[in-house]
Amino acid sequence: MEAVVSDTLPTPTPIVIRDGHVLLPDGTSRIIDVVVRDGRIAVVGEDATVVGDEEIIDARDQLVLPGLVDTHRHMWLGSLSAGSSDVTLFSYARQVNEGHGDLFTPEDVYAGVLWGAVQAINAGVTTVADWAHNLGSEADIDANVRALYDSGIRARLYFGGKASSSGDHSRYEAQARHLHATHAPHRVGGRIALGLAVRGPSMATAAENDVEFGLARDLGLPISLHAGMAGLPGAVDQLGSQDLLGPDVNYVHANEFTEQEWKQVAESGGTVSATPTVDMTMGLGALPAVGPALDHGVPVGLGADTVAYGPSDLFTEMRLTLAAERSRANAEPISRGEMPGALRHSHLDMLDLATRGGARVLGFADQIGEIAVGRQADLITLDLSAPHLDSFDNPVLAAFLSAGARDVDTVIVAGRILKRRGTLADSLLRKAHLEVRRSRARIRERSL
Ligand SMILES: [Zn+2]
Repeated sequence: MEAVVSDTLPTPTPIVIRDGHVLLPDGTSRIIDVVVRDGRIAVVGEDATVVGDEEIIDARDQLVLPGLVDTHRHMWLGSLSAGSSDVTLFSYARQVNEGHGDLFTPEDVYAGVLWGAVQAINAGVTTVADWAHNLGSEADIDANVRALYDSGIRARLYFGGKASSSGDHSRYEAQARHLHATHAPHRVGGRIALGLAVRGPSMATAAENDVEFGLARDLGLPISLHAGMAGLPGAVDQLGSQDLLGPDVNYVHANEFTEQEWKQVAESGGTVSATPTVDMTMGLGALPAVGPALDHGVPVGLGADTVAYGPSDLFTEMRLTLAAERSRANAEPISRGEMPGALRHSHLDMLDLATRGGARVLGFADQIGEIAVGRQADLITLDLSAPHLDSFDNPVLAAFLSAGARDVDTVIVAGRILKRRGTLADSLLRKAHLEVRRSRARIRERSL
């Protein structure tokens, strides 16, 4: 079997993050230290002892948060960022996924995923669910895995084959087995875990659903599918009638699930990924599915979905989610001509979606999502000295209200520093930029 693509980045060094405002699991923040050893959080507390081999990060006037978790993003589209913001799902699929996607070679997959990871890391996203559905060959698959490793990000790679309507999906099973067999580190808790992205009832027949869900379960991999978008109803009902529901299934979008479908998802233990920018601006549903998921006790996280259409940061998605869910809840009293008497959800709930919530959705709940001893050292800091992040006494709220990628000072994944003092690691940025420039030139050339 082909050599395994694995983690070649250097061993992490010990780190002390000194005197930052640290967001704790109970939602409070305190000025304390965080010590990182062997890629994990070793100490959270005051006046941490320094041995002498640590890299010291002076975090005075900085907010320290758990790394953000994106539960749904098509990383290969990193090189096609800002492709359009005025297309529906179907014309988007034709223009971006198929129009450009079919021109991708393994080198372009590598460049797109690496650049996509750089965009995510730059914005404080330390873990991403990479919904990889432009992989037509084993070489494409290896390029995708290699790019995730080389970037330093943590990921669950949901393998989706070549799922566009113009793509050849016939080798999906053989390719999934190749990925599973050659990419062994996922079995021992490596930085890149695996899953299967299946087409689901909106794109596949009942027989095909049986095969794809059966394959995932045979390989022991979690499943993710797009479901519940406007005009494509009945996905959960259909899967339920085929006895395919389960706690290993992640539903992306879920905007227009019926009450019956929400009950089935909750009872079967499934999870949901909401992508507010894309959901609302592309018209996948009236509102993102966060409120209904929370109301039904379904684990839910956020996602940027595609940088070809929306922004690469999750702060935007958190703010949009709060506005959307307040708007949903306020509609009823407003329709009676009244102001709402109380408001639903808080900024801490939104931060929870982008950290702990995402960790649960991806099956990493015991590893990431909180700043606590023993967790993976996936941490970010935000520079609070800028006027827009200043606050009377609430740095967490200030960050929620106004932060963006440019405010992310430091990004640490598995104890490795990928961004520091607002600048990405030079080796990563230069390589990714060179790769994406070359890839774009090739794609432009081929599309003539
Ligand atoms: Zn998607």
